[in-house]
Amino acid sequence: MPAGEPDQEYDVVVLGAGPVGQNAADRARAAGLSVAIVERELVGGECSYWACVPSKALLRPVLAVSEARHVDGAREAVIGPINPGGVFRRRDRYVSDWDDTGQTEWVEGIGATLIRGHGRLDGPRRVVVTTPRGKETALAVKHAVVVCTGSRPALPDLPGLYEARPWTNREATDSSEVPDRLAVVGAGGVGVEMATAWQGLGSKVTLLARGSQLLPRMEPFVGEYVGRGLVDAGVDVRMGVHVRELRRAYPYCPVSIVLSDDTALDVDEILFATGRKPLTDHIGLETVGLNPGSWLEVDDTCRVTAVEEGWLYAAGDVNHRALLTHQGKYQARIAGAAIGARAAGRPLDTEPWGVHATTADHHAVPQAFFTDPEVAAVGLTAEQAAQNGHRAKIIDVEIGDVVTGAKLFADGYDGRARMVVDVDSRRVLGVTLVGPGVTELLHAATIAVAGEVPIERLWHAVPCFPTISELWLRLLESYRDSFITMV
Ligand SMILES: Cc1cc2nc3c(=O)[nH]c(=O)nc-3n(C[C@H](O)[C@H](O)[C@H](O)COP(=O)(O)OP(=O)(O)OC[C@H]3O[C@@H](n4cnc5c(N)ncnc54)[C@H](O)[C@@H]3O)c2cc1C
Repeated sequence: MPAGEPDQEYDVVVLGAGPVGQNAADRARAAGLSVAIVERELVGGECSYWACVPSKALLRPVLAVSEARHVDGAREAVIGPINPGGVFRRRDRYVSDWDDTGQTEWVEGIGATLIRGHGRLDGPRRVVVTTPRGKETALAVKHAVVVCTGSRPALPDLPGLYEARPWTNREATDSSEVPDRLAVVGAGGVGVEMATAWQGLGSKVTLLARGSQLLPRMEPFVGEYVGRGLVDAGVDVRMGVHVRELRRAYPYCPVSIVLSDDTALDVDEILFATGRKPLTDHIGLETVGLNPGSWLEVDDTCRVTAVEEGWLYAAGDVNHRALLTHQGKYQARIAGAAIGARAAGRPLDTEPWGVHATTADHHAVPQAFFTDPEVAAVGLTAEQAAQNGHRAKIIDVEIGDVVTGAKLFADGYDGRARMVVDVDSRRVLGVTLVGPGVTELLHAATIAVAGEVPIERLWHAVPCFPTISELWLRLLESYRDSFITMV
């Protein structure tokens, strides 16, 4: 460890150049501060190369074919299976063949200094970077260190796990060979999306879910629709089971899975989509009084609450508020603006990004899953609204029965919308949608929830005929009708 004088000094040092670190650096630069951003792998992070982008690149062809199959006249044009080679080549384009030149140029373009290597804290306001060649550089930091190191897969502790060489999100998104048989463990977003993608690409997928509901954090009906879609696609969905043991004699032979119900399953690969852990083990947290490997608790400006003098920030997955790229980038914009304001001695509420707006982190987080059917949700579920003490009305609409645009979009359109309304404030607390094409409807719901738009005002947001968005009218009509007493 270098001691004594630092090699370089910056106003702000950002650890991790994923989407969140890049946004934090950008906002701090926009505030006129000097910024170094440290990256040990690819500039662009997990999101660009092993998560959001490649997963959606794998899913899009699967959903495009499914959409065509649901339209009479177009269905006949789908004359063969998906071509995995074409899908992988397209995916490779969207991840720039795992080459980060473009994103590196972007970072340099904003005037930040990119330092390649592993960064770690070395006491207050000090960072040490170990470069790929093993050289150490010490950085002194004037105003803020922003930890944006993201997360890694949380794998269960199972006999035979190491020998089984399981897939994580990395192999699930960067592989270019389709396993004949794939087990997917986990019923969250990554599990159901990857089951959809690999079944569509030609694997025989078995989805293993510990609980009784897929996507258990969503409204219960969402898991039912997604489960039906997976089964229709040919996925073997097994609920209420977990993996007890794995056996793989040598790398390229099948994996034998022993399940909790005493059955066995042989597959060619097994993907664990069983949650995430913070990537904070080796970043020197102990040098500033924090526990290595812990999530970093922050306030609404992303300042780490347990560190004195307010110089340490954490944004994105690492603070565990919402493990989503768009939420992490939103936090980074707020953190960057707050750092700029504090450095200049300005009050926070004069900042253009409105640093006090971070309550949206809690009440209006939008989330989309590109399953078949798609899922989109923002705000509170009915259960969460009740737990939070709201007097709420629950409005459900079967989209395919009452929305002309949906019927035109897909023959036999099968989907549901739920709107949760606080009857006292007459504000929408949450919206959940499941059905073909609903992910593009999500932002309207997000505006209604985050903007706290009074329901009587929503009547004047007229949806185009014939779009699926007309479901808003049906939701409002059902809400109105729910107050009409029959005589
Ligand atoms: C399969 C999958 C699909 C997903 N799909 C979506 C989606 O569609 N939409 C969505 O919003 N979210 C999605 N997510 C979640 C999303 O990927 C994360 O929320 C997002 O990547 C978090 O961004 P981040 O910048 O915090 O972390 P990351 O993207 O993980 O970036 C962290 C960066 O920090 C670097 N780093 C770590 N430690 C150090 C260190 N000590 N020194 C230097 N550099 C370091 C890493 O190399 C990495 O580049 C998905 C996740 C998975 C697993």
